[in-house]
Amino acid sequence: MTKEYRVLLYYKYTPIEEAETFAQEHLRFCKEIGLKGRILVAAEGINGTVSGTVEQTQAYIEHMNADARFNDITYKIDETDGHAFKKMFVRHRQEIVSLHLGGDDLDPNETTGAYLSPEEFREAILDENTVVIDARNDYEFDLGHFRGAVRPDIANFRELPQWIRDNKEKFMEKRVVTYCTGGIRCEKFSGWLVKEGFKDVGQLHGGIATYGKNETVKGDLWDGKMYVFDERIGVDINRIEHVVVGKDWFDGTPCERYVNCANPSCNRRMLCSEENEHKYMRSCSHECRIHQPNYYVQRNQLTQSDVAERLAAIGETMESSAATTA
Ligand SMILES: [Zn+2]
Repeated sequence: MTKEYRVLLYYKYTPIEEAETFAQEHLRFCKEIGLKGRILVAAEGINGTVSGTVEQTQAYIEHMNADARFNDITYKIDETDGHAFKKMFVRHRQEIVSLHLGGDDLDPNETTGAYLSPEEFREAILDENTVVIDARNDYEFDLGHFRGAVRPDIANFRELPQWIRDNKEKFMEKRVVTYCTGGIRCEKFSGWLVKEGFKDVGQLHGGIATYGKNETVKGDLWDGKMYVFDERIGVDINRIEHVVVGKDWFDGTPCERYVNCANPSCNRRMLCSEENEHKYMRSCSHECRIHQPNYYVQRNQLTQSDVAERLAAIGETMESSAATTA
Protein backbone atom coordinates (compact mmCIF):
# COMPACT_ATOMS: atom_id res chain seq x y z
CA MET A 1 0.00 0.00 0.00
CA THR A 2 1.29 3.45 -0.85
CA LYS A 3 1.81 5.72 2.09
CA GLU A 4 0.69 9.34 2.09
CA TYR A 5 3.92 11.01 3.17
CA ARG A 6 7.41 11.09 1.75
CA VAL A 7 10.87 11.92 2.99
CA LEU A 8 13.30 13.42 0.47
CA LEU A 9 17.04 13.19 1.00
CA TYR A 10 19.22 15.13 -1.45
CA TYR A 11 22.21 17.39 -1.96
CA LYS A 12 23.99 19.28 -4.67
CA TYR A 13 27.41 20.90 -4.79
CA THR A 14 26.83 23.94 -6.98
CA PRO A 15 27.69 27.63 -6.50
CA ILE A 16 24.89 29.57 -4.80
CA GLU A 17 25.33 33.33 -4.90
CA GLU A 18 24.12 35.33 -1.91
CA ALA A 19 23.47 32.08 -0.10
CA GLU A 20 22.09 33.80 2.99
CA THR A 21 19.34 35.57 1.03
CA PHE A 22 18.65 32.37 -0.89
CA ALA A 23 18.23 30.52 2.42
CA GLN A 24 15.64 33.02 3.65
CA GLU A 25 13.62 32.86 0.45
CA HIS A 26 13.89 29.08 0.34
CA LEU A 27 12.55 28.85 3.91
CA ARG A 28 9.59 31.04 2.96
CA PHE A 29 8.77 28.79 0.01
CA CYS A 30 9.10 25.57 2.03
CA LYS A 31 6.78 26.90 4.73
CA GLU A 32 4.30 28.07 2.11
CA ILE A 33 3.89 24.57 0.70
CA GLY A 34 3.81 22.96 4.17
CA LEU A 35 7.11 21.12 4.04
CA LYS A 36 9.04 20.20 7.21
CA GLY A 37 12.69 19.31 7.64
CA ARG A 38 16.22 20.61 7.73
CA ILE A 39 18.08 22.19 4.82
CA LEU A 40 21.63 23.57 4.87
CA VAL A 41 22.63 26.20 2.35
CA ALA A 42 26.16 27.45 1.68
CA ALA A 43 28.01 29.15 -1.13
CA GLU A 44 29.11 25.64 -2.16
CA GLY A 45 25.61 24.09 -2.43
CA ILE A 46 22.54 22.68 -0.73
CA ASN A 47 21.92 19.64 1.50
CA GLY A 48 18.52 18.68 2.81
CA THR A 49 16.12 16.19 4.31
CA VAL A 50 12.47 17.19 4.15
CA SER A 51 9.12 15.51 4.67
CA GLY A 52 5.63 16.21 3.43
CA THR A 53 2.63 14.73 1.68
CA VAL A 54 3.12 13.31 -1.80
CA GLU A 55 1.73 16.60 -3.23
CA GLN A 56 3.95 18.81 -1.04
CA THR A 57 7.14 16.93 -1.84
CA GLN A 58 6.19 16.87 -5.52
CA ALA A 59 5.68 20.65 -5.46
CA TYR A 60 9.14 21.00 -3.91
CA ILE A 61 10.83 18.84 -6.53
CA GLU A 62 9.11 20.79 -9.32
CA HIS A 63 10.21 24.08 -7.77
CA MET A 64 13.79 22.83 -7.64
CA ASN A 65 13.65 21.40 -11.16
CA ALA A 66 12.68 24.84 -12.47
CA ASP A 67 16.05 26.15 -11.21
CA ALA A 68 18.99 25.42 -13.52
CA ARG A 69 21.33 24.98 -10.52
CA PHE A 70 19.24 22.17 -9.08
CA ASN A 71 17.47 20.48 -11.99
CA ASP A 72 19.72 17.41 -12.00
CA ILE A 73 19.39 16.53 -8.31
CA THR A 74 18.65 12.88 -7.55
CA TYR A 75 16.18 12.58 -4.68
CA LYS A 76 16.25 9.53 -2.43
CA ILE A 77 12.59 9.06 -1.60
CA ASP A 78 11.20 7.13 1.39
CA GLU A 79 7.52 6.58 2.03
CA THR A 80 6.29 7.19 5.60
CA ASP A 81 3.08 7.52 7.56
CA GLY A 82 3.57 11.14 8.59
CA HIS A 83 6.00 14.04 8.79
CA ALA A 84 9.50 12.98 9.87
CA PHE A 85 10.19 16.44 11.35
CA LYS A 86 8.37 18.83 13.66
CA LYS A 87 9.52 22.08 12.06
CA MET A 88 11.03 23.57 8.93
CA PHE A 89 14.57 24.95 9.05
CA VAL A 90 16.71 26.37 6.28
CA ARG A 91 20.09 27.39 7.66
CA HIS A 92 22.94 29.28 6.08
CA ARG A 93 26.32 27.69 6.81
CA GLN A 94 29.93 27.84 5.68
CA GLU A 95 29.82 24.20 4.53
CA ILE A 96 26.90 21.89 3.70
CA VAL A 97 28.65 19.10 5.62
CA SER A 98 31.03 19.80 8.49
CA LEU A 99 34.36 18.31 7.56
CA HIS A 100 36.25 21.46 8.66
CA LEU A 101 38.98 20.97 6.07
CA GLY A 102 40.03 24.60 6.36
CA GLY A 103 42.98 25.18 4.05
CA ASP A 104 42.54 21.65 2.65
CA ASP A 105 38.98 22.36 1.52
CA LEU A 106 38.15 21.16 -1.98
CA ASP A 107 35.47 21.27 -4.65
CA PRO A 108 34.06 17.75 -5.15
CA ASN A 109 33.13 18.75 -8.70
CA GLU A 110 36.90 18.85 -9.36
CA THR A 111 38.36 16.25 -6.99
CA THR A 112 36.45 13.28 -5.67
CA GLY A 113 36.68 9.47 -5.53
CA ALA A 114 35.35 7.26 -8.34
CA TYR A 115 31.57 6.79 -8.16
CA LEU A 116 30.60 3.17 -7.51
CA SER A 117 27.16 1.83 -8.37
CA PRO A 118 25.47 -0.38 -5.75
CA GLU A 119 26.55 -3.46 -7.77
CA GLU A 120 30.17 -2.28 -7.93
CA PHE A 121 30.13 -1.39 -4.25
CA ARG A 122 28.85 -4.85 -3.32
CA GLU A 123 31.77 -6.38 -5.22
CA ALA A 124 34.16 -4.06 -3.40
CA ILE A 125 32.87 -5.27 -0.01
CA LEU A 126 33.65 -8.84 -1.02
CA ASP A 127 37.11 -7.99 -2.40
CA GLU A 128 39.93 -8.80 0.04
CA ASN A 129 42.19 -6.06 -1.25
CA THR A 130 39.64 -3.35 -0.65
CA VAL A 131 39.20 -1.49 2.63
CA VAL A 132 35.67 -0.23 3.19
CA ILE A 133 35.62 2.83 5.46
CA ASP A 134 32.43 4.04 7.10
CA ALA A 135 32.45 7.85 6.76
CA ARG A 136 29.87 8.53 9.47
CA ASN A 137 29.77 9.16 13.22
CA ASP A 138 30.28 6.30 15.69
CA TYR A 139 26.64 6.19 16.87
CA GLU A 140 25.50 5.83 13.26
CA PHE A 141 27.86 2.90 12.72
CA ASP A 142 26.73 1.23 15.94
CA LEU A 143 23.11 0.97 14.78
CA GLY A 144 24.03 -0.50 11.41
CA HIS A 145 26.83 -0.77 8.85
CA PHE A 146 28.18 -2.79 5.94
CA ARG A 147 29.57 -6.17 6.95
CA GLY A 148 33.33 -5.91 7.56
CA ALA A 149 33.49 -2.12 7.23
CA VAL A 150 36.09 -0.19 9.21
CA ARG A 151 34.65 1.86 12.07
CA PRO A 152 36.89 4.90 12.53
CA ASP A 153 37.38 5.51 16.22
CA ILE A 154 35.92 9.02 16.15
CA ALA A 155 32.98 10.70 17.84
CA ASN A 156 32.35 13.08 14.97
CA PHE A 157 32.68 13.00 11.19
CA ARG A 158 34.95 16.06 11.16
CA GLU A 159 37.64 14.12 13.09
CA LEU A 160 37.92 11.69 10.19
CA PRO A 161 40.83 13.30 8.29
CA GLN A 162 43.05 13.24 11.39
CA TRP A 163 42.09 9.63 12.13
CA ILE A 164 43.05 8.62 8.57
CA ARG A 165 46.42 10.38 8.92
CA ASP A 166 47.05 8.49 12.18
CA ASN A 167 46.19 5.14 10.57
CA LYS A 168 47.51 5.76 7.09
CA GLU A 169 49.90 2.81 6.88
CA LYS A 170 46.96 0.39 7.26
CA PHE A 171 45.23 1.60 4.09
CA MET A 172 47.83 3.23 1.84
CA GLU A 173 48.56 0.16 -0.29
CA LYS A 174 44.95 -0.93 -0.62
CA ARG A 175 41.99 0.18 -2.61
CA VAL A 176 39.87 2.38 -0.34
CA VAL A 177 36.12 2.80 -0.75
CA THR A 178 33.89 4.90 1.45
CA TYR A 179 30.19 5.19 2.14
CA CYS A 180 27.77 7.38 4.07
CA THR A 181 24.00 7.90 4.35
CA GLY A 182 23.14 9.77 1.16
CA GLY A 183 26.57 10.17 -0.45
CA ILE A 184 27.28 13.79 0.42
CA ARG A 185 29.89 13.22 3.12
CA CYS A 186 31.85 10.93 0.80
CA GLU A 187 31.98 13.56 -1.95
CA LYS A 188 34.46 15.63 0.05
CA PHE A 189 35.96 12.88 2.16
CA SER A 190 36.89 10.71 -0.84
CA GLY A 191 38.21 13.82 -2.62
CA TRP A 192 40.34 14.51 0.43
CA LEU A 193 41.67 10.90 0.30
CA VAL A 194 42.66 11.45 -3.34
CA LYS A 195 44.47 14.66 -2.34
CA GLU A 196 46.19 12.82 0.52
CA GLY A 197 47.81 10.51 -2.02
CA PHE A 198 45.60 7.42 -1.87
CA LYS A 199 45.86 5.85 -5.32
CA ASP A 200 42.58 4.04 -5.73
CA VAL A 201 39.62 5.71 -4.04
CA GLY A 202 35.94 4.91 -4.57
CA GLN A 203 32.68 6.06 -3.03
CA LEU A 204 29.20 4.56 -2.93
CA HIS A 205 27.24 6.84 -5.26
CA GLY A 206 23.96 7.93 -3.67
CA GLY A 207 24.97 6.41 -0.35
CA ILE A 208 23.39 3.63 1.70
CA ALA A 209 19.92 5.02 0.95
CA THR A 210 20.38 4.32 -2.78
CA TYR A 211 22.00 0.93 -2.12
CA GLY A 212 18.95 -0.17 -0.10
CA LYS A 213 16.56 0.67 -2.91
CA ASN A 214 18.57 -0.96 -5.69
CA GLU A 215 16.67 -3.92 -7.14
CA THR A 216 19.78 -6.00 -7.86
CA VAL A 217 21.65 -5.82 -4.55
CA LYS A 218 18.54 -5.34 -2.36
CA GLY A 219 20.66 -4.04 0.51
CA ASP A 220 22.74 -7.24 0.66
CA LEU A 221 25.65 -7.26 3.17
CA TRP A 222 24.16 -4.41 5.20
CA ASP A 223 23.60 -5.30 8.86
CA GLY A 224 21.28 -3.48 11.26
CA LYS A 225 19.41 -0.27 10.51
CA MET A 226 20.56 2.94 8.86
CA TYR A 227 20.64 5.88 11.27
CA VAL A 228 18.71 8.88 9.95
CA PHE A 229 18.62 12.42 11.32
CA ASP A 230 14.87 12.69 11.74
CA GLU A 231 12.19 11.26 13.99
CA ARG A 232 12.39 7.82 12.42
CA ILE A 233 15.96 7.40 13.86
CA GLY A 234 16.53 4.11 12.01
CA VAL A 235 15.33 2.72 8.67
CA ASP A 236 15.68 -0.73 7.09
CA ILE A 237 18.15 -1.25 4.23
CA ASN A 238 18.72 -4.98 3.76
CA ARG A 239 15.68 -6.55 2.10
CA ILE A 240 17.12 -10.09 2.11
CA GLU A 241 17.81 -10.55 5.81
CA HIS A 242 17.84 -8.45 8.97
CA VAL A 243 20.80 -8.95 11.29
CA VAL A 244 20.75 -6.86 14.47
CA VAL A 245 24.23 -5.45 15.26
CA GLY A 246 23.23 -2.77 17.77
CA LYS A 247 24.06 -3.60 21.38
CA ASP A 248 22.39 -2.35 24.53
CA TRP A 249 24.64 0.17 26.30
CA PHE A 250 24.08 -1.51 29.68
CA ASP A 251 24.04 -5.24 29.07
CA GLY A 252 25.25 -5.72 25.49
CA THR A 253 22.13 -7.56 24.34
CA PRO A 254 20.90 -6.96 20.74
CA CYS A 255 19.14 -3.61 20.59
CA GLU A 256 18.06 -1.05 17.97
CA ARG A 257 16.41 1.52 20.22
CA TYR A 258 18.21 4.86 20.67
CA VAL A 259 17.68 7.16 23.65
CA ASN A 260 19.63 10.17 24.89
CA CYS A 261 21.29 10.26 28.30
CA ALA A 262 19.02 12.07 30.78
CA ASN A 263 21.89 14.26 31.97
CA PRO A 264 21.39 17.26 29.64
CA SER A 265 25.07 18.19 29.73
CA CYS A 266 25.97 14.64 28.55
CA ASN A 267 23.09 13.85 26.18
CA ARG A 268 24.94 10.76 24.86
CA ARG A 269 23.04 8.73 22.29
CA MET A 270 22.90 5.17 23.50
CA LEU A 271 21.13 2.00 22.45
CA CYS A 272 18.95 0.90 25.33
CA SER A 273 15.96 -1.39 25.96
CA GLU A 274 12.86 0.00 27.64
CA GLU A 275 13.59 -2.14 30.68
CA ASN A 276 17.14 -0.82 31.09
CA GLU A 277 15.96 2.73 30.47
CA HIS A 278 14.00 2.54 33.71
CA LYS A 279 16.52 0.42 35.57
CA TYR A 280 19.37 2.90 34.92
CA MET A 281 17.19 6.02 34.82
CA ARG A 282 18.17 6.58 31.19
CA SER A 283 21.64 7.73 32.29
CA CYS A 284 24.85 6.43 30.73
CA SER A 285 26.95 6.46 33.93
CA HIS A 286 26.71 6.76 37.67
CA GLU A 287 27.77 10.41 37.41
CA CYS A 288 24.94 11.08 34.97
CA ARG A 289 22.42 9.25 37.19
CA ILE A 290 23.16 11.53 40.16
CA HIS A 291 23.63 14.67 38.04
CA GLN A 292 21.26 17.57 38.67
CA PRO A 293 19.19 18.18 36.73
CA ASN A 294 18.43 14.73 35.36
CA TYR A 295 15.58 14.72 32.84
CA TYR A 296 14.53 11.16 33.67
CA VAL A 297 14.19 12.01 37.35
CA GLN A 298 12.27 15.19 36.48
CA ARG A 299 9.92 13.63 33.97
CA ASN A 300 9.06 10.71 36.23
CA GLN A 301 8.85 13.00 39.29
CA LEU A 302 11.15 10.78 41.32
CA THR A 303 11.84 11.86 44.90
CA GLN A 304 15.27 11.66 46.52
CA SER A 305 14.32 8.35 48.13
CA ASP A 306 12.95 7.00 44.82
CA VAL A 307 16.34 7.75 43.24
CA ALA A 308 18.21 6.18 46.17
CA GLU A 309 16.07 3.08 45.78
CA ARG A 310 16.75 2.81 42.06
CA LEU A 311 20.48 3.27 42.69
CA ALA A 312 20.50 0.62 45.41
CA ALA A 313 18.92 -1.85 42.98
CA ILE A 314 22.01 -1.55 40.76
CA GLY A 315 24.50 -1.42 43.61
CA GLU A 316 25.05 2.34 43.65
CA THR A 317 24.56 5.10 46.23
CA MET A 318 23.91 8.85 46.00
CA GLU A 319 27.63 9.55 46.32
CA SER A 320 29.70 10.27 43.26
CA SER A 321 32.01 7.44 42.18
CA ALA A 322 35.03 9.75 42.50
CA ALA A 323 34.25 10.15 46.21
CA THR A 324 33.69 6.44 46.85
CA THR A 325 36.91 5.31 45.18
CA ALA A 326 38.98 7.94 47.06
ZN1 LIG B 1 25.56 10.45 30.29
